[in-house]
Amino acid sequence: MSQDIVYMDYASASKTDPRVIDAMLPYMKEYFGNPSSPHTSGLRMKSALEEARASVARLVNAEKPTEIVFTSGATESNNMALRGVAFRNKDRGNQILATRIEHISVLNTLKYLTKFGFEVTYVPVDSYGLVDLEALKNAITDRTILVTIGYANNEVGTIQQIREISEIVHSKNAYLHTDATAAVGKIPVDVLKDGVDLMTISSWDMYGPYGIGALYIKKGTRVEPLIIGGGQEGGLRSGTENVPGAVGMGKAAELAMAEMSSDASRLSKMRDRLIEGILKNIPYSFLNGHPTRRLPHNANVRFSFVEGESLVLSLDMEGIAVSSGSACSSKTLEPSHVLIAMGIPHVEAQGSLLMSLGRFNKEEDVDRVLEVLPRIVKGLREMSPLTPKEVS
Ligand code: PMP
Repeated sequence: MSQDIVYMDYASASKTDPRVIDAMLPYMKEYFGNPSSPHTSGLRMKSALEEARASVARLVNAEKPTEIVFTSGATESNNMALRGVAFRNKDRGNQILATRIEHISVLNTLKYLTKFGFEVTYVPVDSYGLVDLEALKNAITDRTILVTIGYANNEVGTIQQIREISEIVHSKNAYLHTDATAAVGKIPVDVLKDGVDLMTISSWDMYGPYGIGALYIKKGTRVEPLIIGGGQEGGLRSGTENVPGAVGMGKAAELAMAEMSSDASRLSKMRDRLIEGILKNIPYSFLNGHPTRRLPHNANVRFSFVEGESLVLSLDMEGIAVSSGSACSSKTLEPSHVLIAMGIPHVEAQGSLLMSLGRFNKEEDVDRVLEVLPRIVKGLREMSPLTPKEVS
């Protein structure tokens, strides 16, 4: 990326850490072989794969590395968790609980499952995006086989009370799946302490390579495989393994363990300076998401009387890359389904800007946004017929 671009869209795509690429290169340039082969070349690949699996397991504190199944990414992990658990546990019930602020890959998989007789009940969240625990208690029944709730929201940054959610879910012997894409590698995540049965883990969201991800599946959890073949990955995900990708994800996990707390403390200070600077200098601007239970790198702010997409394009012209919501659904031009579920009115939601920081941001990036954004918001408001006279 050219030097002058300020990149604050790490929730949409993140840079692969150069140290990750260095760890992968030998497995692309020098070593090759099928991890299932019994010869030395195959065994070398197998051992690299298993080391990577152990590294991902350590990051989330899985009891055994075999509880980590490599996939092609978070979308596939979400599919494997939801479809795999639903189809394998049909004999126990047909109800699945979720919230309306889940990622589109979760929401659309749930919609698909309704074609097969599964019923999805949506538990409300409050205006910060936090799950209403009382509503969850009331919604869960003896027919509930699975509850899926994201660990932290990728758009508004709100971190759920997963431990408390787990207690409610397990009181009815249902499984808890959490899409932890936005959280793993950014904040401490512990599948044992959190009481999670299945957890979606992304690679690129923690500066690892694209084309690989993982699903943590607690030992004993009943899951039907989606991809049938040679029985790799414990029979849950057949196909010759992506060893260079796994090695990269393993390295990303190792770096996250070593650097998570320093990254988080640096980024949360930058995030706070960004949020405070915006709220102080731009009238009619409001924070989306929870003020404290919040991912360290997430700043999501809405501006009355402006349109998020116009803000994104205007900032791009100034060399600043941000987002108006989740890149996965931003093509629709609809306001963010997350903000709508949090009770924010359509027009207000449409004026939102998601700035997600990452390991490679510098303090100057925050200075630049704080210098440029007030002028852009003011300019757009002056052009908008919706802006009251006293504001523009
Ligand atoms: N879940 C969440 C919470 C996400 O933010 C994303 C995208 N970053 C995904 C799932 C899907 O990830 P991918 O597109 O890499 O499959």
